[in-house]
Amino acid sequence: MSRANDPGLQSWISVPEESDFPIQNLPFGIFQTDGLSPRVGVAIGDQVLDLAALNRDGFLTAFDLPDSILENQYLNDFIKLGKDKTSAVREHLSDLLQEENAVLRDAPDAVNKYFHLQASVQMLLPVQPGDYTDFYSSEVHATNIGRMFRPDNPLMPNWKYIPVGYHGRSSTIIVSGEHFHRPKGQILEKDGEPPVFRASTQLDFELETAFITFDGPAMGQSITTSEAEQYIFGMVLFNDWSARDIQRWEYVPLGPFLAKNFASSISPWVVTLDALQPFYCEGPVQDPPVLDYLRFNGPKNIDISLEVGIIPEGNEETTVCHSNFKYMYWNINQQLAHQTVNGCLVRAGDMYGSGTISAPAEDGYGSMMELTWRGQNPLTMKDGSTRKFIEDGDTVVIRGWCERNGIRVGFGEVSSKVLPAI
Ligand code: CA
Repeated sequence: MSRANDPGLQSWISVPEESDFPIQNLPFGIFQTDGLSPRVGVAIGDQVLDLAALNRDGFLTAFDLPDSILENQYLNDFIKLGKDKTSAVREHLSDLLQEENAVLRDAPDAVNKYFHLQASVQMLLPVQPGDYTDFYSSEVHATNIGRMFRPDNPLMPNWKYIPVGYHGRSSTIIVSGEHFHRPKGQILEKDGEPPVFRASTQLDFELETAFITFDGPAMGQSITTSEAEQYIFGMVLFNDWSARDIQRWEYVPLGPFLAKNFASSISPWVVTLDALQPFYCEGPVQDPPVLDYLRFNGPKNIDISLEVGIIPEGNEETTVCHSNFKYMYWNINQQLAHQTVNGCLVRAGDMYGSGTISAPAEDGYGSMMELTWRGQNPLTMKDGSTRKFIEDGDTVVIRGWCERNGIRVGFGEVSSKVLPAI
């Protein structure tokens, strides 16, 4: 266990109660503020610690980092340093921030020179993902969707053998706070008639997380389930926006395409796998038994509470879903082992979505498709309006956090607003 995860640690930077970012978290992101180029920051309480400034003034000399790694628009070059080094940087920052450590605390003008209020900075997309995979690993979600189309046989025969996934589009991944326009596309309005071209009327969110990898071994080699943690830098919250009406017409026979690639939103802070270690838990029993390369030892699911809210334009938020990452059937070690079992190369900054995370209870479903059961049971917002799917002007917010031994390690949020089609 990393000593930076010790629940007894306190920082000399005051951390508000209920903050997602105590000293035990220290997630990495990219921020920008007046007069400063984009750079690597670490969240602590309601502050951002400026790693580029720390490095320039000699607080990170042990790591011999070129300035360009930390004064950078993305975390990719930092992640390229590999697990040993990025973990050691987090441990060192933990030391510097501990209340009894005077090195940074008592440096002249330290708070002004090295910290910014999170509320005063702009968070940028943390990584430039070269490749992006989306899995489909929640049994509740796969069963719900399957049941709508195949009531007698909801799960396909491959589902409990393969962590099913597809290759998505990395160019349209956006960071929390960025908005996007409702997509247009081909939609089949009536069976037996030609499709029409128009704006989607069944725009949906998908509650997901995503993990981000380090550089993997050479192409042709694989990552085993027991090696997977060495190749995973951290996780973010992920909203895999989906247009159900476009999806329904296009997905045969090759799967998701334009219904999925117009926008996918992620949270700005990458919570390291190191910080998540205390929250590992057992996953569901996998029956039938998985093939050998997918077997694993020890608890590999992670207890991350998740919630989704909808904010209609100018109105207050209505929480529509409470779920948890612990319900996933396939864990991230298995997903990465499966991704690479054929020799597929993984690179620093690549992203892997979990698939929609639906909990067993009906208020735990991770998409409108399931919550309203294809629009049959609309949800009522606090302002009295109803929703079958997501409307123009709606903002969808996903939050996620872990809690154990009085320590809350959170992700912050991912929030995006839907603008009218153009
Ligand atoms: Ca998805």
